[in-house]
Amino acid sequence: EFVLYHDQYVKKQDAVIDMEDRGYNFGDGIYEVVFVYGGKPFAMKEHFERFISSASKLEMQLPFDAARFVELTEGLIQKNDLKDGMVYVQMTRGASPRNHLYERDMKCLVTGFTRHMKPPEDLHKAGIRVYLTDDIRWLRCDIKSLNLLGNTMAKRLAADHNCHEAIQHRDGTVTEGSSSNLFIVKDGILKTHPANNLILNGITRQVIMKIADEQGITVEEAPFTIDELSDAHEVFISSTTMEVTPVIQIAGQLDAHYEIGDVTRTLQNRLKKKIHGSAHI
Ligand code: PLP
Repeated sequence: EFVLYHDQYVKKQDAVIDMEDRGYNFGDGIYEVVFVYGGKPFAMKEHFERFISSASKLEMQLPFDAARFVELTEGLIQKNDLKDGMVYVQMTRGASPRNHLYERDMKCLVTGFTRHMKPPEDLHKAGIRVYLTDDIRWLRCDIKSLNLLGNTMAKRLAADHNCHEAIQHRDGTVTEGSSSNLFIVKDGILKTHPANNLILNGITRQVIMKIADEQGITVEEAPFTIDELSDAHEVFISSTTMEVTPVIQIAGQLDAHYEIGDVTRTLQNRLKKKIHGSAHI
């Protein structure tokens, strides 16, 4: 197995990270996760556009343009002969004597690795339990930053309550999962939190909204409350690794059960169709 280190492919044990890399000291960096199906990455361009947007929001200088990022990432997939799994690419601001103040012209460090894995088809079919909790994260959740303590704490809490994912809310407004976006369906209308500073604008989320449009399903990007979540007919999460995964139960600050409905199944199947380029049975 090779890893990406700057623009080179090296053995994992040969990649050396400086003790004072700002990613290591401050979480000063960004990342992307792209899923690979049958050796082909899905929505690679969209992921790298978001990567570049995250870099720009943090005033990080990119060592390569989007095309080169895609080339290096595809090269890693090939080098590791990855058929099904994920490729992770991150960029830190690089190393300098530890100091909160960053310089704008630092040489950023790009690294990446692959992992073999299959989409969780069993969960796609059966749905998951989720845990509703406070959103304790910062106010720039639109940046795909390495700082994920709010997310990891929420995920741990969910797992401790036998739930697969945490669903977060700010003062009663439901935002997103700890590593996914959230959609609700009421009277056939799809609703999800607007893409502002309070959520990460998921690539899967954007693809789902496009599919909904194609299917004639009305989509509202609008904030919704815990009460609306409670009253929803269908609930599902979306992400690169989870695709469309139905929610069948909410625990924690809400106690609710849901059927897996037609809108969820339609979007789930259409997404798989888009991913695989043919009908998914
Ligand atoms: N929201 C958060 C906080 C995430 O970490 C993720 C992905 O990991 C998502 C949403 C979903 O984004 P995407 O569909 O691009 O994977």
